Amino acid sequence: MDTPARARADVCPGVFAPHDAADGALARVRLPGGVVTRAQLRVLAECVDGFADGEVHLTSRGNLQLRGLDRSATRLAEWLADAGLLPSLSHERVRNILASPRSETARALAADLDVALCARPELAALPGRFLFAFDDGRGDVAGEGADVCWRDGAVLLAGVDTGKRVTADQAVEALLSVASAFLKARDAEWRVSELSDTSKLTDALPGRAVTPVELPVLAGIPIGLLDDGAVVAPEFGVLTSARLRLFAELAPFVVVTPWRSVFLPGVRDGEALAGMLTERGVTACIGRPGCAKSRADVRADARRVAGVRAHFAGCERRCGKPAAGHIDVLAEEDGYRVDGTWVPVAALADFLLGKGAQ
Ligand code: SF4
Repeated sequence: MDTPARARADVCPGVFAPHDAADGALARVRLPGGVVTRAQLRVLAECVDGFADGEVHLTSRGNLQLRGLDRSATRLAEWLADAGLLPSLSHERVRNILASPRSETARALAADLDVALCARPELAALPGRFLFAFDDGRGDVAGEGADVCWRDGAVLLAGVDTGKRVTADQAVEALLSVASAFLKARDAEWRVSELSDTSKLTDALPGRAVTPVELPVLAGIPIGLLDDGAVVAPEFGVLTSARLRLFAELAPFVVVTPWRSVFLPGVRDGEALAGMLTERGVTACIGRPGCAKSRADVRADARRVAGVRAHFAGCERRCGKPAAGHIDVLAEEDGYRVDGTWVPVAALADFLLGKGAQ
């Protein structure tokens, strides 16, 4: 949970600074705009087979994680760098950039911001949690709580319209200007939402000012075959190396979304994607045995439930919880606390189905 003053150091993991988990080291690979090319998918498949636990884990920020790594496997960074997935040693952990997955314009802006961000040495000091977003106006990633978001002209801070309006041509510089101003304004804060005064962050922006408005947001994008491609949702956002290779066969690039799904532009082959084209609604943190903090094997318990929007977590950190509305399912001894009510494991599925029907 965000707090006004951060007592702990920022330890967001990367490839060069992996996190020590109970199942080995964990490395996060940033994907600005969520884009992974065919060649990169194949390299990732080799990496998860060669160095990790055989799977890649999608994150709630549209990135990828490799788990179960041996810390001495230095070739992982070499392979990822050779594939263009680690363009900057200094800025690795600050390349946190969302884009509307189905928008070419938004994805192009994310790629431009990535290059411009990595070219500014001072911005390597951003906290690893600082998040940029480009939303083409459909309102999908605008609801993901980015620190600064360009939404079809509107500049949002922590999801709230500032009233500033900048063109697409000005968007990259505008968001970098806000990031620079945040660095000057912050003390121990990691996120814009933790600042007591955000008025100075938009002082240097070009463009015009209007009365701020409330802009509607969407809870992600639909799963299934769409007009412009396929959106797949693997269980708990986990992909095997075989599926990475399958995606590489089907599409020249894919887009990892912040909803633990993957958009395959132009793909209409439902048969090849069987088993991934329906949404379960239930999400879960890694839980036991991968995380030592977990009180339960939350994924095993979550598998017994379907058809409700619920997030299972092994402890109060609630890693990976969706930004959109969901039932909170927190592990405790011998049971779960569901939106504040204790429920034994044996009664959990029925309780959640009843809650979902309300
Ligand atoms: S929510 Fe807690 S138990 Fe689950 S992965 Fe995060 S730290 Fe571990």
